[in-house]
Amino acid sequence: MIDLSHLRGKTIAVLGLGKSGLASVKALVNGGAIVWAWDDNAESRGQLEAFGLAPINLAECDWTEPDMLVISPGIPSTFPTPHPAAEKARRAGKPIICDVELLCTALPDVPSIAITGTNGKSTTTALTAHILSNAGIKTQAGGNLGNPALGFDPADPDDCFVLELSSYQLELLHDASFDACGLLNITPDHLDRHGGMDGYIGAKRRVFARNKGPKWAVISVDDDPCARMAVELAREGGRRVIEVSVHKPAPHGIYVENGWLIDDLSGAQARIMDLVTVAHMPGVHNWQNIAFAYALCRARGVVASKIIEGIMTFPGLAHRQERLGMADGVTFVNDSKATNAEATAKALSAYRDIYWILGGKPKEGGIDGLQAFYPQIKKAYLIGTAADAFAETLGNDLPWQKCETLDRANAAAFLDAKEDIQSRAVDMPVVLLSPACASFDQFKSFEARGDAFRDLFNALAHAGQEKP
Ligand code: ADP
Repeated sequence: MIDLSHLRGKTIAVLGLGKSGLASVKALVNGGAIVWAWDDNAESRGQLEAFGLAPINLAECDWTEPDMLVISPGIPSTFPTPHPAAEKARRAGKPIICDVELLCTALPDVPSIAITGTNGKSTTTALTAHILSNAGIKTQAGGNLGNPALGFDPADPDDCFVLELSSYQLELLHDASFDACGLLNITPDHLDRHGGMDGYIGAKRRVFARNKGPKWAVISVDDDPCARMAVELAREGGRRVIEVSVHKPAPHGIYVENGWLIDDLSGAQARIMDLVTVAHMPGVHNWQNIAFAYALCRARGVVASKIIEGIMTFPGLAHRQERLGMADGVTFVNDSKATNAEATAKALSAYRDIYWILGGKPKEGGIDGLQAFYPQIKKAYLIGTAADAFAETLGNDLPWQKCETLDRANAAAFLDAKEDIQSRAVDMPVVLLSPACASFDQFKSFEARGDAFRDLFNALAHAGQEKP
């Protein structure tokens, strides 16, 4: 557990008792802090008993006492409307932070890599951590993905933390500092939580405010907001700006040319590896993730040959274009993590003959901008709250069916795909769950949605095996 004994005797308020909140409570109690904790959900509050704590309603308590508020990043502290406890903390002039701030300020000597962006964060974080571990560096990865920051174990200056950071978490950092930061891409997402696109870009920009000094700012130049930010960072000075592109040469940066990963950090344009051969990470979007992981591992001093070894042995992540297997000639791909149209576009670009399951709690913009992929899609199966709006967007351009739930959509897609195989209309059909929506209308999380899809596939595959 991370030692927070420098906070002994301080009163720390913790709002939100999910995975990260509970890890914060545990580390704070262990460090001797006086913990005032709350969650609006009574069941979650019940978990405080295990720490010998009674819940304190932070929206109603006296805010002169607590020294700071540690808030779960999922709870709004600003837009669209701040949680009343956050509002009270702000009025009382108390810092509002997240667990990552506590980790990084407790262990400032442990090298850390921060990764953010609209899409690809988890893949790049997991890949970077895998490469570093494979290169013999004791690495812990987490933050927005997997292990919460205060669930980490103590570490040394020879080790490395790899932190996936969401825009919500970035807004809650004050003194945390990172040795290398990567900003993969920016497209509209979570705009309601940041008061619009400028607020969202501003939140992402905060990652670099945290790496002053001779440190590495690794940034894409493939979208306008990032490209503009790269120019600003270079103008600002004080850190090494490494540009990354999958579309054009990036002088003194890392880029992809004709499928080859090129390292131009020293101006030598070294051809590192043919990314087309990395079959387990298909698509140009994954090339972007690989290029970033490569740059960030170079920042940590790993040699190219070791990085290549790590890329080739990366096992991949669940729910991101995860190939579940095949039943009766139909391939099933679980891309439940694709919670916006931008992410779904990547999956749609990777397959032909798609039976596309989509829907859930829609994001701003819905599925606009996916028309280019319609020729690859046989039919769309609509679930969740978004169904009506998506049906309207698809109109007469694509066959669609309102299925309401995932199990009905899966059954309908499987049936159609099998019929199309029989009539020789398709040869390699793919039932793809790539919802372009959040999951919260019908599921607890995108993981629960993806797991449900995997269970449905397993049931089909199992039933197929039992056939005579
Ligand atoms: P994040 O953690 O940022 O949500 P993930 O690595 O979990 O990103 O990937 C989520 C989905 O986003 C994937 O299923 C894939 O469809 C898409 N994706 C992955 N990497 C990228 C990228 N670099 N650019 C755009 N989309 C991507």
